[in-house]
Amino acid sequence: MHSYAEAAAAVTAARSVAVVGHVRPDADAIGSVCATVGALRQLGKEAVGLIGQTWPYAENLQTIPGAEEVQLVEELPDVDLIITVDCGSLDRTGRLAGDIAARVEDTLVVDHHASNVGFGAVNLLDFQAESTTTILGRLFEELGVELDVPIAHALYAGLLTDTGSFRWGRPEMHTYAARLMETGLDVRAIAVDLLDANSLADLRMIGRALASVEIHEAGGHRLALIVADQELVCSGSLPAVEGLVDFVRTVEGTDLGAVFKESAPDFWHVSLRSVDMDVSRLAVALGGGGHIPAAGYSAHGTADEVTDALLAELRRQ
Ligand code: 5GP
Ligand code: MN
Repeated sequence: MHSYAEAAAAVTAARSVAVVGHVRPDADAIGSVCATVGALRQLGKEAVGLIGQTWPYAENLQTIPGAEEVQLVEELPDVDLIITVDCGSLDRTGRLAGDIAARVEDTLVVDHHASNVGFGAVNLLDFQAESTTTILGRLFEELGVELDVPIAHALYAGLLTDTGSFRWGRPEMHTYAARLMETGLDVRAIAVDLLDANSLADLRMIGRALASVEIHEAGGHRLALIVADQELVCSGSLPAVEGLVDFVRTVEGTDLGAVFKESAPDFWHVSLRSVDMDVSRLAVALGGGGHIPAAGYSAHGTADEVTDALLAELRRQ
């Protein structure tokens, strides 16, 4: 693990930089990419923001300043330095994983996922950090970057969403939020854009999903489960579908929640949440990763097969 000074030195030495966020990006990924690109340009460097997938991501993330410039790509451009942000492992860079693997000596990894082994040449990792944007804020200070409104907005986006709207985190998260707000952010509008806006179709999708919640017992655990098949997933927006997991995080009488989202026939992305147990262990065992309270993985099979596999893993652990 490296220091802020070592990470800053790697940035200072570069003239052109590619900033890569994780696939299926969330607000911390896009916020981290946009804030870093903005900071690098302020320092007089050439910078481009990239996501290694070809399909579009949640449209509400386009409200983060600079997101309109983030490119969906399958190849790295010719740059001096690669910075991965909010990527817990190399495979989270998606289609760019091969190119980055071939250039690890030029890669700076900035991340807060506890399962990150440090896959770059320089690794700025802080597992206590609420968001990757929290780590970036300190790195920008080290680099003498001035917090302007677009950079502060992008940093705040990651902090807001990765703390569940300031429901968990260290006391410093509030001090950091205050510093970002003092640049003149409209935090109310940011919360609406990223968390609260729902269409009629979204409300109906959420209603159907909630009506289908089931509770399962396995290995001494009680799981609140939503299985959202492709038809249901397609009836709502991406952010609304991603938000379903917040409803099963703390169902009374359960100790974890899961949402299975079928993005292609028999291909599922699974989100796990808990306040009582370590769901990152479960996710890692099933081929994914994440944090103790929030983790995920992908699975192939029918709805019964993929949910049975999760229940079997719960019994095993
Ligand atoms: P979400 O449920 O919001 O998709 O993901 C929750 C957390 O788990 C995120 O912090 C994310 O980094 C991690 N995660 C989700 N899916 C995967 C996956 O397929 N692989 C890995 N390594 N981590 C994942
Ligand atoms: Mn994050």
